[in-house]
Amino acid sequence: MSFDTLGLLPAILKSVLAAGYENPTEVQAQTIPPALEGRDLRVCSNTGSGKTAAFVLPALQRVLNARADPAQRRPKGQAFGPRVLVLTPTRELAIQVAKAAEVYGQDVPGLKIATVVGGVPYGAQLAALRKPLDLLIATPGRLIDHLESGKAILGHVEMLVLDEADRMLDMGFIEDIERIAAALPQSRQTVMVSATFAGQVGRLADQILRDDAQRIE
Ligand code: AMP
Repeated sequence: MSFDTLGLLPAILKSVLAAGYENPTEVQAQTIPPALEGRDLRVCSNTGSGKTAAFVLPALQRVLNARADPAQRRPKGQAFGPRVLVLTPTRELAIQVAKAAEVYGQDVPGLKIATVVGGVPYGAQLAALRKPLDLLIATPGRLIDHLESGKAILGHVEMLVLDEADRMLDMGFIEDIERIAAALPQSRQTVMVSATFAGQVGRLADQILRDDAQRIE
């Protein structure tokens, strides 16, 4: 299995090769093709498996495709909110995902990534949320704060990723996640990544993924 066969655009493949990756990991090989087709996914995967690239590469491809389509172009200078929203349990993981997106997205012209996490001042986050944005990577609690104050615009999200969903639920974020999901367009793609889909995580998956979501074990 090689990266060339997964359906990724040349600009994305270039960054993957620049990162020194020769072949996709198992979760990448299984996840990337259906993610590029826009399918909802239930990805059972642990950290260290290469799961970050499995959802970040399709997310970046979505941004690139939107850039190439005049119908999807956004008026300059207007805040439209992100096309892709990634929720993570901790600020450390959010920062790690943002770094990975910067590395894999180095050949996406003008890529705009913001992180919104707890424990840091609101000011810089507010400024980032007011600018046009491609990817927003957030922890649920802080994003809810921005959503309730009307500062986070989530009405244009095309892809939602819940990374380490089991850990988010262990930390008590279920209500925040449900409220955030309710603020997003119904037509979005949703990818849930979790080490397990037992119990509450499975129930959340049934609730927020489309019925034909693909299972990746
Ligand atoms: P993750 O599970 O996403 O945290 O990734 C674990 C580590 O694997 C990270 O350091 C990645 O840079 C690395 N990695 C991800 N995909 C590949 C790949 N296809 N080949 C080699 N290393 C990879």
